[in-house]
Amino acid sequence: MGRRGFISQSDRIEAYRAAIASLGDLVYSCRCSRSDLSEFGGVHPPLCPPNSAETPVALRLRVGDETIGFTDRLCGYFAQHLCKEVGDFALFNALGEPTYQLAVVVDDEFSGVSEIVRGRDLLDSTPRQIYLRRLLGFSSPSYAHLPLALGSDGYKLSKQNLAEPIEAKNASQTLIDALIFLGFAPQKTLAKQKPAAIVQWALNERRCEPSGADNPLFRK
Ligand SMILES: [Zn+2]
Repeated sequence: MGRRGFISQSDRIEAYRAAIASLGDLVYSCRCSRSDLSEFGGVHPPLCPPNSAETPVALRLRVGDETIGFTDRLCGYFAQHLCKEVGDFALFNALGEPTYQLAVVVDDEFSGVSEIVRGRDLLDSTPRQIYLRRLLGFSSPSYAHLPLALGSDGYKLSKQNLAEPIEAKNASQTLIDALIFLGFAPQKTLAKQKPAAIVQWALNERRCEPSGADNPLFRK
């Protein structure tokens, strides 16, 4: 275990390896590079195409010839045919590190997560994770994928995309700006309150239908 209350992936390698072992023959070694897969549209076929054998080895999970669907609490029904749309996907990369798909499934189950709320950019990872959870005998959480706040360039606001950090020193006004962006209509006097009071006001208002869906910065 990591520090109290936190799990570090580096402390969880044995759990990821145990998950791989329990998947048996469904996991296989793969030396394909991105360019090897480009002629397949990036979708790994059931058998590795001929490739250069000098590249490091990743561990890949065989997917079934089936459609995996689920009902998202916000986006409604979403499904993918894993074999045609995603292909066999990596569980350990060629550096010997667990991939996001494996780590998030194993760690969420370990932590007893029953409701997953995250950005809509991860919607198309979900059928893979449901498939993996099923193979590992894990429970089925509920999913809600939230709209993303995008910059004028169409990319999501994130550190990765060099978005400006939020200033903590004027937290109350920042919270008010965020609430207005989300479609709330706070009174001007609310900005004089402490952040906790503003959050509580928003929680009390949450039954109102936010007009965020009409905001051009929200996209499906
Ligand atoms: Zn391969």
